[in-house]
Amino acid sequence: MKPSRRLQALSSAIFTEMNKRKRKLEQQGMKVIDLGIGSPDQPPAAHLIEALVNGVQNPDNYRYPTSEGSLEFRRTVTDWYAYRFGVQLNADDEVLSLMGSQDGLAHLALAWIDEGDVVLVPDPGYPIYAASVTLAGGEIYTMPLTAQNGYLPDLEAIPTEIRQRAKMMVLNYPNNPLAATADVDFFRQVVEFAKEYEIIVAHDMAYSELAFDLYKPVSFLEVEGAKEIGIEFNSLSKSFNLAGCRIAYVVGNAEIIRPLAVVKSNIDYGVFLAVQQVAIEAMRSDINGHFGNSIAKTYESRRDVLVDGLSEIGWNVDKPRATMFVWAKIPEGWSSEDFAFTLLERAGIVVIPGNAFGVEGEGYVRIALVEEENVLREVVQRIKESGIVG
Ligand SMILES: *Cc1c(COP(=O)(O)O)cnc(C)c1O
Repeated sequence: MKPSRRLQALSSAIFTEMNKRKRKLEQQGMKVIDLGIGSPDQPPAAHLIEALVNGVQNPDNYRYPTSEGSLEFRRTVTDWYAYRFGVQLNADDEVLSLMGSQDGLAHLALAWIDEGDVVLVPDPGYPIYAASVTLAGGEIYTMPLTAQNGYLPDLEAIPTEIRQRAKMMVLNYPNNPLAATADVDFFRQVVEFAKEYEIIVAHDMAYSELAFDLYKPVSFLEVEGAKEIGIEFNSLSKSFNLAGCRIAYVVGNAEIIRPLAVVKSNIDYGVFLAVQQVAIEAMRSDINGHFGNSIAKTYESRRDVLVDGLSEIGWNVDKPRATMFVWAKIPEGWSSEDFAFTLLERAGIVVIPGNAFGVEGEGYVRIALVEEENVLREVVQRIKESGIVG
């Protein structure tokens, strides 16, 4: 028996191989430091855990939730979007709760893409963007994101025939794995382009709150006209260290969101009400100034420890101004995979080879800032001793 051909779209051989080799080294007694997966290592704030405990103890929370999310949840999202971005949304049909943005991103193509429809996807890119299109039977057209183009897609370079056939474009800023950011000017160009060719824009903003040096990421929906063609995914996972709770949402154009809500109402019945209440507490307390960007500050200090440390040992990498990743150009003479596997063997450090995110990622590795500063200092020391750079 063989699983479906569709399944091949889902598993990345590189991630599996890295894990296998990591486990083998651990069995041999090596203490491996894993900067591979982008999963927050810190717990949520104490008052959020308390909100979850209270929610779990409330007997009213155990009926089926509705898949669009409670009205209170949707209203809090609209309040937070107004507070954070100055974007006005209607809680009735412009907000949909999700079991993580992964849920929404994975199902969006099922809601909109038929065989032969083209989706414009960034390369490198977060794997589900391309995988979801393949699952739905659509066609992927990759938009290369390179250092030369500032990690922004070159819209002019997209052939006319593709523009006309394209039904959707996926964007992601601040970006995983590139840690690149986009400004309002770029989003304006996207809106103009998408309107001209009638392309749906799906912007993934999972890192909207993880920004450094006073930089504040902008929402795609801040641009005039964006809501006519676009939606935006946002998540509590990274912004509030709630990744394990599985709570996120999509906002924007009601016509674009509705088919996604139909798909989801057939597949799941929504997010546990106690979890929605944690999200409400997180957004409300943020509006009331109780967070003060403390999570971003943690990643910012870690970034400085790692990037400054690497620079001291002769490996110069760009300092990102957002996300929890460093996108590091590797020394000449290595392929991304050889470099990552050798770093694992010699130094016991897991990073992800850039080509795991698309062919344009070759020549880079992604390093996740998911360990504390003293561990990152050890990472620098181990890299130095391995002699792999400098
Ligand atoms: C982590 C991540 C997600 C998934 O977030 P969830 O809301 O936890 O599903 C989506 N997009 C990007 C770019 C991410 O890095």
